[in-house]
Amino acid sequence: MEKTIRPYVLAECNWKAVKETRYTVAILPWGATEAHNYHLPYATDNFQAEFVAIEGARKAWEKEAKVIVLPTIPFGVNTGQMDISLCMNMSPSTQYAVLKDVVEVLNGHNIQKLVIINSHGGNNFKQMIRELSLDFPKVFVCSINWWQASNAKSYFDEPGDHAGELETSAMLHIAPHLVLSLDDAGNGSAKKFKIKGLQEGWVSAQRQWTQVTKDTGVGNPVRATQKKGKAFLDVVVQNVADFLEELHQADVNNMYE
Ligand SMILES: [Zn+2]
Repeated sequence: MEKTIRPYVLAECNWKAVKETRYTVAILPWGATEAHNYHLPYATDNFQAEFVAIEGARKAWEKEAKVIVLPTIPFGVNTGQMDISLCMNMSPSTQYAVLKDVVEVLNGHNIQKLVIINSHGGNNFKQMIRELSLDFPKVFVCSINWWQASNAKSYFDEPGDHAGELETSAMLHIAPHLVLSLDDAGNGSAKKFKIKGLQEGWVSAQRQWTQVTKDTGVGNPVRATQKKGKAFLDVVVQNVADFLEELHQADVNNMYE
């Protein structure tokens, strides 16, 4: 049988290859397991993070960048959705503990660069990266929200926040066999905060999801298409690949000009 091992996907690699390869950049896809309106699967964020990570790594690897995609962390911060069946919350402090263990391994094997490919709006690694730098000053850690790696407004009429046009289009490209007909989807209409500052967004607070949306979506998926998903993801993946290649080349002790 023909082997189809991708040398930049750790889950598929063997020790024979890994012990001989000097990786420079580790990539950690990080998603969530949660309801996505009626029509998208619970692991939507995991499929998306892994797709962008692996496709970005593939293109970077073809340009000689020694990148390696780690297995996806499937649980996100879902503290505002505890009353929705099987939304699997992982609190930020737990995420920090997981991330710290991952970085400890990388540090021990002298992999000095880690890129988190984040797929879930409730996850936020910015402050964790600051704290990590005290424990592991030699490892450069950064994070990408994949849906922000290109300008969504040029591809979608109304991208939406959660299970809307952007995410539905992306899933129609990545895993169409798991997407129900849009006839099954709710319209993703969401209530706004009553208080002005919160409504305008310059005051931030957690939203109690079931009070905001009936179908768990925020954003209408009705105009989602596979074509829009592919067009957007092609650019996102290329941008991520270019970044990985540049990071592979970079000297983490000389990052400024
Ligand atoms: Zn999502």
